[in-house]
Amino acid sequence: QSATFPDGSPRKTLVVLGSGWGSVTLLKNLDTTLYNVVVVSPRNYFLFTPLLPSTPVGTVELKSIVEPVRSITRRRPGEVIYYEAEALEVDPQSKKVRIRSVEQGEHKYEMELNYDCLVVGVGAQPTTFGTPGVYEHASFLKEIPDAQDIRVKVMNNIEKAAALSPNDPERKRLLSFVVVGGGPTGVEFAAELQDYVDQDLSKWMPELSKEIKVTLCEALPNILNMFDKSLWQYAQDLFKQEKIDLKVNTMVKNVTATHITTKCGDQLEELPYGVLVWATGNAPRDVSKSLMKKLDQQTSPRGLLINDKLQLLGAEDSIYAMGDCTFYPGLFPTAQVAHQEGEYLAHVLKKQHKIDHLRWQLADAEPSQVPRITARLEKAEAAIQPFKYNHQGALAYIGSEKAIADIAIGESKYRLAGSWTFLFWKSSYLVMCLSFRNRILVALDWLKVSFLGRDSSV
Ligand code: FAD
Ligand code: NAD
Repeated sequence: QSATFPDGSPRKTLVVLGSGWGSVTLLKNLDTTLYNVVVVSPRNYFLFTPLLPSTPVGTVELKSIVEPVRSITRRRPGEVIYYEAEALEVDPQSKKVRIRSVEQGEHKYEMELNYDCLVVGVGAQPTTFGTPGVYEHASFLKEIPDAQDIRVKVMNNIEKAAALSPNDPERKRLLSFVVVGGGPTGVEFAAELQDYVDQDLSKWMPELSKEIKVTLCEALPNILNMFDKSLWQYAQDLFKQEKIDLKVNTMVKNVTATHITTKCGDQLEELPYGVLVWATGNAPRDVSKSLMKKLDQQTSPRGLLINDKLQLLGAEDSIYAMGDCTFYPGLFPTAQVAHQEGEYLAHVLKKQHKIDHLRWQLADAEPSQVPRITARLEKAEAAIQPFKYNHQGALAYIGSEKAIADIAIGESKYRLAGSWTFLFWKSSYLVMCLSFRNRILVALDWLKVSFLGRDSSV
């Protein structure tokens, strides 16, 4: 796109970091002819995270929950430039971002991009709270390679265990699957894993499947803290019925290649494991941490501090931030928040373009035109209202084709649990899928699993 509009006013450069919930929603809603839009993300696809816990055991295929960035940018009006690269550093003073390509070898590049306006939507990385051994031995469940890694480990352990005698303690260890963190990620994955054992593995390896033990460790007195007590209680009771070993008030303190050390009260216990999945929440990424260090106003270790218009504190005139990379009281790191923030920013950037255009007109205006343009400018500036989050509730799959839902409609709250809620969960996620293609593929995967079972090959 040209650097100016037909009337000679400048077209500003908007750099968007990330291709997750926030950034992709922004792109889908933005009038991309208003800016030179540049997207930078190491991941050349959008990932529909709510169904990620279903993928390691094959309830849903990974290809069904991704949408290529190119297919999103291609549908936007105007040109959108995409770099498959990660942002290394942002310099808010000179308004530059240093990026490095994901591609290794001879095509590897590092360069600086200038921006007039920057949107930071880089998400977060898994946190370990400094627990020794986690990075070396555990799997996370955040991205596609994590899900692939878990799948390979689970399937390989089952085959390795099958070759050992039933009395061999190594067989027992290999078949011990431990999940750490009783937030929705840990709970949904433990539920999917137990479903796989009960519904599929039990048909092919009936004896071995009975030896598999799924354990969930949670440091707090209960799981799923963001849900109402009646719902987390329901989920805990179901886990008991399904023989998932739920260890609450149990903090994992250390991880080795074969054991975890748990602490419950004053009691330390060594627990052998075959596969360990770590899901204890989020921490800021390096690019966010480096940006925090450059701005005095960034005083929280939990994320980038923003104001109620999603402007980054300390760089309000040129940087917006949204989603999991930010910290703002009352806004949780969920897809729902990032999605609404992306929609809001698309709306703000349209208004900001109008403001910039009026300022450009004002700079060269005849004295007689000044009051009229000034009045329009004031009106346009006042039209940018603070972001208002509309919480619609929370959903979680808890296994055995049951789900829980904490729904908020206006002031009313509805709490649902059970098999009908599972159907509600399924239909909500189909509606939430960002593309028609994803919707069809996910629906077909569910249909396939209900008739043919899960595909457990690696
Ligand atoms: P993300 O969606 O994580 O996107 C971040 C983007 O930034 C990615 O494209 C990444 O590749 C890119 N990036 C990373 N580093 C850089 C860099 N240096 N430079 C440029 N780009 C970079 N929330 C719900 O509301 N409901 C759910 O059911 C739900 N289920 C979930 C299940 C799982 C397994 C997980 C892990 C999360 C789930 N969440 C759910 C939370 C939700 O996924 C996040 O809150 C949401 O993804 C945040 O959106 P985001 O745009 O901030 O970040
Ligand atoms: P979380 O922060 O929600 O939960 C992490 C849990 O791990 C906490 O309950 C914490 O007490 C526990 N924990 C921390 N350290 C521990 C330790 N050493 N030993 C044992 N337990 C420990 O994390 P999450 O589940 O990864 O979710 C991250 C975000 O994504 C949240 O905002 C969540 O709401 C969102 N999410 C939502 C859904 C959904 O709505 N269905 C699904 C997945 C994720």
